[in-house]
Amino acid sequence: MSQRIADLHIHTHFSDGTMSPEEVVAAAKEAGLAAIGIADHDTIDGIAPAKAAADLVGLEVVPGVELSSEYHGKDIHILGYFFDLKDSPLVRLLGNIQLGRMDRMRKMVSKLNQMGVKDIAFDEVCGQLKSDSVGRLHLAKLLVARGHVPSLNAAFEKYLGEGAPAYYPKFKQTPIEAIKLIKDSGGISVLAHPMLTQKDELIPEFVRAGLDGIEAYYPNCSMEVANFYVGIAQKHGILISGGSDAHGKGKDSTWIGKAYLPYEHVEKMKEWLRR
Ligand code: AMP
Ligand code: ZN
Ligand code: FE
Ligand code: FE
Repeated sequence: MSQRIADLHIHTHFSDGTMSPEEVVAAAKEAGLAAIGIADHDTIDGIAPAKAAADLVGLEVVPGVELSSEYHGKDIHILGYFFDLKDSPLVRLLGNIQLGRMDRMRKMVSKLNQMGVKDIAFDEVCGQLKSDSVGRLHLAKLLVARGHVPSLNAAFEKYLGEGAPAYYPKFKQTPIEAIKLIKDSGGISVLAHPMLTQKDELIPEFVRAGLDGIEAYYPNCSMEVANFYVGIAQKHGILISGGSDAHGKGKDSTWIGKAYLPYEHVEKMKEWLRR
């Protein structure tokens, strides 16, 4: 492949992906990527093993994380890249966020039990975990495995989606707090999948708070949509990002390298940090 490309939004089994960091690196090499961003939900545990594996095959790993935040009841995801992994406000907060995820999972399991879904226990949900970053996808997979719903999508529609009866919100960080946290930790903040979130009217406020970029390239979205978000980023003079949001097996509408962006945008991120 002549053009160098990057996929900056990949989950591993340290959050709710199914692939190990080593498997992710092998798949990224296979897909012809020059760089990958490991962006697990609320954990950085996948980054070091991915780097170790990637060093052996000449692949670059961009350190990342996908933070959840809430704006008037709406779940908004903010990606952080290139932050200080050793000692930063962000890394220190992740431990608390993970405790909050555990507590919330107990509440969702208890809601399900009360609704008559009796054969699912908190410990079983956690049995799938490689870190403390437990999420709704883990629970959804168990609901499918036990035959309560035919598909992951049905699990979210019937039980776990925002507003569904077993849904429980995570924690009270706002998008602006997440953006500031990433900046205070030396990183770049990027609005994740705006085409899914559909809150474009908030982008100017996020930019004023320090948002550094927008995820314009995303799977199953047209070139028109991508270009629309590239245009918004350019209008605000901020960065462009993109990636597959691959979660491995089970969520097969996307895979590593399905959405990608030219590597020059990774270079622009590094320049942005040097300014
Ligand atoms: P959580 O961080 O625990 O709130 O879980 C959010 C994750 O659930 C997202 O990152 C997706 O991986 C997954 N998810 C949300 N909606 C759906 C859906 N309709 N089908 C499959 N997975 C979903
Ligand atoms: Zn996920
Ligand atoms: Fe997300
Ligand atoms: Fe994601």
